[in-house]
Amino acid sequence: MRGPLLFSDIDTPGLASLEGYRRGGGYATLAAVVGKKPADECIEIVKQSGLRGRGGAGFPTGLKWSFVPKNSPRARYIVCNADESEPGTFKDRELMEKNPHLLIEGMVLAGYAIGSNTGYIYLRGEFEYIQRILDRAIDETRAAGLSGANVAGSGFRFDLHTHLGAGAYICGEETALLSSLEGFRGQPRLKPPFPAVEGLYACPTLVNNVETLMNVPHILNHGAAWFRQWGTEKSPGTKILSVSGPVKRPGNYEVPLGMPLSQLIDDLCGGMRDGMKVKAVIPGGSSVPLLPASLLDTGLDFESMNAAGTFLGSGGVIVIDEGTCMVDALWNITRFYEHESCGKCTPCREGTYWMSEVLRRLEHGEGRADDLDLLADLADNILGKSFCALGDAAAMPVQGALLHFRDEFEHHVTHRSCLVNRRRDGLSVVRPCEQAHA
Ligand code: SF4
Repeated sequence: MRGPLLFSDIDTPGLASLEGYRRGGGYATLAAVVGKKPADECIEIVKQSGLRGRGGAGFPTGLKWSFVPKNSPRARYIVCNADESEPGTFKDRELMEKNPHLLIEGMVLAGYAIGSNTGYIYLRGEFEYIQRILDRAIDETRAAGLSGANVAGSGFRFDLHTHLGAGAYICGEETALLSSLEGFRGQPRLKPPFPAVEGLYACPTLVNNVETLMNVPHILNHGAAWFRQWGTEKSPGTKILSVSGPVKRPGNYEVPLGMPLSQLIDDLCGGMRDGMKVKAVIPGGSSVPLLPASLLDTGLDFESMNAAGTFLGSGGVIVIDEGTCMVDALWNITRFYEHESCGKCTPCREGTYWMSEVLRRLEHGEGRADDLDLLADLADNILGKSFCALGDAAAMPVQGALLHFRDEFEHHVTHRSCLVNRRRDGLSVVRPCEQAHA
C-alpha cells in the first residue's frame, strides 16, 4: 500500500532498476551530498531529524552515527541489518524487493557520513532472491560510478557487498550478526564495547536496519524539519507496519508514527474478517508484550507503546481474534524462542525450555496448581538476566499474557480444558487440551 514517504512510489513500474529509480529523482541526493557537504553536517541533520532505529530498539540514529570514532586508525564499516527474522515482520523484504536502490543510496550516504569505505548488507538465509535483486542493483551503481572507487566523481570510495546468513533468529542481534558475517557461529558478544567502537573485525562498525537507512536519502534531501512533519515530537517520521492476523486487508502499511492502533486496524486494514472481534494485538513482533483490546486506542509510537506496557519493536502487528486460545498462542511463540535460543547463557537456554514445557502441559490438560506461578517465576528469571535481548524477547510475551489473560490460564489448570473453545460453539478447531479430555 502506498504511504507518505518510503512507500510513496513503491509500486512504480521499473523502480528496482537504476533507470527507474533515477526517473523519480534517485541518486540526486547522493550527487549533491557526497564530497560536497561536510560529513559532520550530514550526521547533524540526521540527529536533528529525530530518526530512530526502525529495527526494534528505536535508538536515535544520528546519535549512533556520532559514536563511530572519527580518527580511528582502523577501517570503519557499515552493516545493514536485513536479517528481518522477527515473527510477524515482513516490511524490509518488500522495501528491498521493490526499491533496492534507495537502500544502496542510504548506505553510501551513511558510509560517507561516518567515513566508511565498505558496507555489507546482511540478509537472512531465505532472502536469496533478494540478494540477487540487490547484487544486480549494486552492479548497476558500480557501472554508473555511484559506488566503487570514485563515488559520483567525488574521490570517495565505497564498496558494497551482500551476505546471506544461514538462518538463525539470533543473527538479527547486531553482535551475533557481526560474528556470523566474520564466518563464526552466530552468537552475541559482550557489550560494551559496542559495535560503533569495536564491531566487524574489531573495527568501528555502524549497524542500521533497512528501513532506517532508507529514510536517510529523504532526510538529507529535504531536511530535518521536513521529516518532522510526520509523527510525534519524540517519534518523528513514518513507520512501516506489517499487519497479520484475521483482518480484511493484511499487509504492509506506512503510517505516521503516533497513529492509533485502532485506526490502523479499522480504517487501513478494513477491520476484522467474518465478524470476528479483536482480543489482543502484539504490536511489535512476537517478542513484545501484547495489548488487550481495551488498549487499542494506544498510539503507534515508541513513547505511547512504552506507557501502555509494551514496545513498538519492529512494527510487526499481529492481530489476535477472540476465538484464539491464549495458552495455545503463547505456547506457539515460546516454542519459537526455545528453538532459536543460541544456548550461550543459562537463563535463556534452560528457561525457554521450561516455559515451553509448562505451556505444553497446560495446553494438554496436564497443568498443575502451581504452574502459573512457575511460569511467572521462569519469565522473571530470564528477563534482564540473560546475555542478550532474545531472553527478554521470550519472557515478555509470557508476562504480558499472564497479566491480561490469567483467567484463561487458570481455566486450563482448574478445568483441564480451554475456556475459549468452550465459548466458541460451532467452531471445528479442537485444541490438544480438549482432545486429551474429550
Ligand atoms: Fe543465546 Fe543467551 Fe541470547 Fe538466549 S539470551 S540467545 S542463550 S545469548
